[in-house]
Amino acid sequence: MTQACIAIAGGGIAGTACCISLDQIGIRPLWIAEKQTAHHRDHIGETLSPAANPILEKIGLLSLLRSAYHRPANSIYSAWGSGRLHERNAAVHLEGPGLILDRPVFDGDLYKAAQETDPQHVTANVSHVERKSGKWELSLSNGESYRADFLLDCTGSRRIIASTLSEIQRIDHLVCAHCFLKQVDTDITPTPATVIEAVENGWWYATLLPDQRLVISYFSDPDLLPCKLYQDIEAWHNLIEETNYIHQWIRTAGFSVPTPPRLSSAGTKWQEPATGDRWAAVGDAACVFDPLSSHGITTALWMAYQASQFIPDSLKGDLRLQEQYTETILRGGYNFLYQRTQIYAQETRFSDSPFWKRRHPSESNPTLPAKRHQTSTQDSQLLFP
Ligand SMILES: Cc1cc2nc3c(=O)[nH]c(=O)nc-3n(C[C@H](O)[C@H](O)[C@H](O)COP(=O)(O)OP(=O)(O)OC[C@H]3O[C@@H](n4cnc5c(N)ncnc54)[C@H](O)[C@@H]3O)c2cc1C
Repeated sequence: MTQACIAIAGGGIAGTACCISLDQIGIRPLWIAEKQTAHHRDHIGETLSPAANPILEKIGLLSLLRSAYHRPANSIYSAWGSGRLHERNAAVHLEGPGLILDRPVFDGDLYKAAQETDPQHVTANVSHVERKSGKWELSLSNGESYRADFLLDCTGSRRIIASTLSEIQRIDHLVCAHCFLKQVDTDITPTPATVIEAVENGWWYATLLPDQRLVISYFSDPDLLPCKLYQDIEAWHNLIEETNYIHQWIRTAGFSVPTPPRLSSAGTKWQEPATGDRWAAVGDAACVFDPLSSHGITTALWMAYQASQFIPDSLKGDLRLQEQYTETILRGGYNFLYQRTQIYAQETRFSDSPFWKRRHPSESNPTLPAKRHQTSTQDSQLLFP
């Protein structure tokens, strides 16, 4: 009997982890993913939660974390809820520290591991998808076309399939302005730490990367950012100057800020539903949460593993596991909102600012979870394991 064809679109964390998880259960997927490019060097999002470890272990990739390119995220300092900087040392947490990843190395290692499973790899993009006679017909950017029985949408914010087959729930429009800083005074040894600082119109996140660059990110709403910030170095410097700790760290550790930031979307959103008849969204294509959670990578790995568990049943017409997956993402989204509201509520110094008002609990705040979706901690651990 010929094996059903499972197509994976996307070569990020979700796509590569799907390849690897399917290989573990003896399925050789059709993997449509471009080669990783040089711009991958500046992929933002490098904190890996320790919750990722058991999932990586399940898919046989825990050893990737032993690479000398990553460093333990032992020290996290935050000024959130007060002007004082508090340290949270991971040594006192049972689950141990997370990691500050060298993202290009981690993503590259996953990509290589996926290639080594010997999928039917086509280096192209999916440019068009159509459902015909119960099969997916995929037209690719290289002119080729393929047919598949089940389609995994791992295309991140592009959501090539999910966006046409289900509704998006967009909760906010959080934007991240970020840039990578090189040290100009190399006589100084910068502290390997992460600093989070709440300010009037948002919050900052800065961490020393394993390659000794400092990445700084400012999270705010589009209407609260200076106009055309992406090309206005002076406005960027002014924003940095308004911080208490971020600008001190940049200066005392010998870094300079030579360019304006890049802007990227960091808003919370998810697809409702995240799966359907012979398709499923995995990773950012299914849901994206405020990076305050630092769980995007872990969630993508977890979803990929779950997809490999339900697809064989789904193909036989038993949808119970797939429905569980869909429901967990939905409830996880609302549960995340509940947790997020509690975290933002800890910051009361800027209660007149629109940024914080939009995230604080109130009767009229539509971002609060509807009661029917509030879930137990156990449920949320399913989505954020
Ligand atoms: C500002 C910011 C900070 C973050 N910080 C963290 C953090 O500290 N920790 C953390 O865990 N997570 C963080 N995240 C989230 C994390 O980076 C993402 O959740 C994760 O990268 C999602 O992986 P993915 O594979 O789903 O999507 P992506 O990484 O977006 O991969 C999608 C892939 O699909 C490909 N693709 C697109 N269209 C097509 C097509 N038509 N055909 C074929 N392929 C296609 C793309 O080229 C890409 O390779 C952060 C996110 C943001 C925005």
